[in-house]
Amino acid sequence: MKEKIINIVSNASYDSRKINQILVDKLNKSGYIPSKQFNENAELIISIGGDGTFIKALHKNNFPSIPIVGINTGHLGFYQEVDPDNIDEFIDDYTNGNYSIEQLKLIEAEVFTRNKSHVMLGVNEIALKAKNSKIIHMNVFVNRNHLEKFSGDGILISTPSGSTAYNFSLGGSLVHHSLDALQMTPMAPINSVVYRSLSSSIIIPGNYIITLAPEKRYNNSNLLLVDGQEYFFNNLKKINFKVSNKNIKKLVFSQDSYWLNLKSKFL
Ligand code: NAP
Ligand code: MN
Repeated sequence: MKEKIINIVSNASYDSRKINQILVDKLNKSGYIPSKQFNENAELIISIGGDGTFIKALHKNNFPSIPIVGINTGHLGFYQEVDPDNIDEFIDDYTNGNYSIEQLKLIEAEVFTRNKSHVMLGVNEIALKAKNSKIIHMNVFVNRNHLEKFSGDGILISTPSGSTAYNFSLGGSLVHHSLDALQMTPMAPINSVVYRSLSSSIIIPGNYIITLAPEKRYNNSNLLLVDGQEYFFNNLKKINFKVSNKNIKKLVFSQDSYWLNLKSKFL
């Protein structure tokens, strides 16, 4: 018989450690092999914590194609489908195949410096800002068409599933995760007689490429935010953003969960 391995990723909070113990015990009783170490042959990943735990689990394990589901012991837990009180029900539903798989799109940034390029992937968003809280001036292109010269704090580009995160706080729209699109959202855009920047967010088809090319003086004073993590690049020339070919497979137990989640977590 095939071994039914389940990877468990947990944050270190008291609640998460408690739930982890309960979960491991119940999984063992149901014939699964829970693994603390990331096992490539696992059939499922369970993340215990909040959205941060879910996102970190994906980054740390190079955006695995193994389906993932979260148990929410965090604050918000928008990605975390399962309530800690419903672990028995969750194991039953999972064992009986009473779930569907939602595909979450990732954002990919190809960062060009003077003599190298780097690829970064994000679950929620990637944003380009100036270092040290300065204004950044940059040219924005969509499929090589010049759209604007932006001046402000920066530009954030979010995935559909990341649209409820930082993007939302910046006044961006909520985009359903089934849509193939990226949202480009300005961060404190300046509009004056000197600078003219688009002040609303714009939703761009998933097969288009967004290019941000900061002015020369930011080549060495930029800040790239990838799901809340900061990166700096020397001799930065431009960044191309697109929807990645990779995606995340998230378990869902109800077709209505997105709308239930929105109402219970934001209203
Ligand atoms: P964090 O500081 O704990 O995150 C801030 C909040 O965003 C947490 O309540 C988190 O939920 C929630 N969140 C994360 N992804 C979400 C999503 N897709 N939809 C709705 N809410 C979401 O740091 P973190 O947990 O590592 O999360 C990183 C994310 O924080 C970044 O990707 C960015 O989107 C967001 N962020 C937001 C702001 C802002 O709104 N002003 C500023 C910086 C970063 P949990 O409590 O369950 O972790
Ligand atoms: Mn968090």
